[in-house]
Amino acid sequence: MMRSVLLLIPLLCSVDIISAAQSNEAKETSQRLFDFHSGVWINLHHFLYLEALSRGPQKSSHPAVVTDEDAVLLGSLSAQERATWNEAVDYYANSVIARDLLFDRDMGIIKNEIEDTEDSADLPQLDIPADLRGTLRKAAPIYRKHFWKNHDQENRRWIAQLQPLIEKYGEKLKNSLVAIYEEPWPDSPVRVDVTIYAGQFGAYTTNGPTRPTICSRDPANQGAAALEVVFHETSHGMIDRVADAISAAEADVNARNPKETFHSGKLWHAVLFYTAGEVVAQQVPGYVAYADKNGLWTRAWPGPVRSLIEQDWKPHFNGSVTLSAAIGKLISDLAAAQAHP
Ligand SMILES: [Zn+2]
Repeated sequence: MMRSVLLLIPLLCSVDIISAAQSNEAKETSQRLFDFHSGVWINLHHFLYLEALSRGPQKSSHPAVVTDEDAVLLGSLSAQERATWNEAVDYYANSVIARDLLFDRDMGIIKNEIEDTEDSADLPQLDIPADLRGTLRKAAPIYRKHFWKNHDQENRRWIAQLQPLIEKYGEKLKNSLVAIYEEPWPDSPVRVDVTIYAGQFGAYTTNGPTRPTICSRDPANQGAAALEVVFHETSHGMIDRVADAISAAEADVNARNPKETFHSGKLWHAVLFYTAGEVVAQQVPGYVAYADKNGLWTRAWPGPVRSLIEQDWKPHFNGSVTLSAAIGKLISDLAAAQAHP
């Protein structure tokens, strides 16, 4: 079943000061920007992936952990349910989790196929491996009986707390990002699947089409940070022009300085982090951007990267410099900082 977020929250038109016309306009805005889903099969897929990961060695700085509440429920399974469930987790441990949810292209295709089944009673024939489909079908009755009601409620709560923020700020945020990235909004609306696990960073996005999957229970995705994460993930479908400008500027710098080789690395993602965080911070009073709040600059881009983005990219962000000029200056300054730290 297709679920629009609009079905999940109380209608705002009960508030006297908002006219019916304004309310309808707000709902249309929200609906035009995003189409939120909480589907049983995609949540089961991510839950099994998480549980299989949590049973192995934790190499990541973001360990995969099953919540206490889910651990209690897992402990309450009957012997027969436990055997079936363990078989499914073993399958994920042996055949699925070695493949990254985002960087393995087949996993992205599998995700989209499973997401499209929404809440279908049985998993239809899909373009996914037969043993994966069989595993999901066998585990589904146990998942529906013990976990799904809670997980679905968590997802719906997250969507419901985000929607008023999108109604209030969404159109401005979208217009800012379209202007800054010089790219159109990727889709109308952008489909967002909300899940209780979405990889180690709490969200990931596959492109072509742009489809974010966002974790409803990640502590870093709550409150106004939910707004940043949904616009950040959508930005992944709007960043090509920035990435191309970075590549061109990098080639230019290296051609001018044959003795030094400058690698921009994933600078496009640093620019994206800065941009999505900053557009939200400019709209929401007191908001601190995700990368600043969670120490990401120090972990991922130490040194002058953030301050140079602020110095060189912000003028384009504010509309006074072209995208390519801002990126050219940023790369030139970063290369100089690297050559003379
Ligand atoms: Zn990102």
